Amino acid sequence: MPKSYRTDITGKPKFAEEIQHYKKATPERVQCPSPGCECSYEMYGHTAADRESNTATLKERILREHPDHTSEVLAVNQFRKRPR
Ligand SMILES: [Zn+2]
Repeated sequence: MPKSYRTDITGKPKFAEEIQHYKKATPERVQCPSPGCECSYEMYGHTAADRESNTATLKERILREHPDHTSEVLAVNQFRKRPR
């Protein structure tokens, strides 16, 4: 399951160690969809095939936290079953 880290905390030792597990993967930077908001998350653990759907899911989650963005880590769960 993909996991995302708020961009400003990815350098913290606590999270850097965890993120190292994903080092083979290229993170996907996902910006808060709210216009003018600078907050973004780095998403790890996704695959090329599910990158787009996970990005969309993560954007929804990020927007729910706007404007506070207090979560340092967000798991990227699927909220609803998407027809394939
Ligand atoms: Zn925001």
